[in-house]
Amino acid sequence: MLIAGNWKMYKSPAEAAEFCLGLREEELDGVDVVVCPPFVSLAVAVQLLAGTEIAVASQNVHWEQEGAYTGEISASMLRELGVYGAIVGHSERRQYFGETDETVAKRVRGALDAGLFVIACIGETEEERERGATEEVLRRQLSVLEADDNLVVAYEPVWAIGTGKTATPEVAQQAHAFVKTLLNVSVLYGGSVKPDNAADLLGLPDVDGALVGGASLELDSFVAICRAGARIPS
Ligand code: PEP
Repeated sequence: MLIAGNWKMYKSPAEAAEFCLGLREEELDGVDVVVCPPFVSLAVAVQLLAGTEIAVASQNVHWEQEGAYTGEISASMLRELGVYGAIVGHSERRQYFGETDETVAKRVRGALDAGLFVIACIGETEEERERGATEEVLRRQLSVLEADDNLVVAYEPVWAIGTGKTATPEVAQQAHAFVKTLLNVSVLYGGSVKPDNAADLLGLPDVDGALVGGASLELDSFVAICRAGARIPS
């Protein structure tokens, strides 16, 4: 069971430090925990969580290890900092920053080759679900990925991200089972996971963890979700 907190563009280094100082005091046995701060807050998170079981991942990574790519960060730079993994292809990157299945594939490959753990995000929009295209979209997004020991997929229906609308357990289970017919990977659920719905979602047979946005920003709610994960028998 893996619980990853995607902080998005929240938490400066000072705010990240405060959160990590609190997090490292928590009892989190029985669950793998990852926090994903913005780039500028990675170093302090790595430093403050060193010696704990909690890993630190970035929210994006470039496919080349260096080069003329203004504004980008490479996997080897992240590794040097002590960063363990990276989120790739989050729907906000696809929606607002022109990320495509092709660039997602390149970022995933580059990160895995450089030794990073990768959380690759997929998911359909509301319009795609309404016209019955969910499986077609997931199939297309997954077609550019290959199974790897260091790769997990996060199924994040775009209509459930940051909206407070959560996929019902039935919808989530169906999508996760479908993903697993196409790619042999663990699959995290993402989309308005909160302390009060975490146990129901995490207890589903094909849900292997959660990628948590909004509720990962407060220590209490993030810890509550991690503990809900720890209580699910593996
Ligand atoms: C996310 O950012 O990946 C996410 C799922 O956000 P939220 O939990 O806020 O919906």
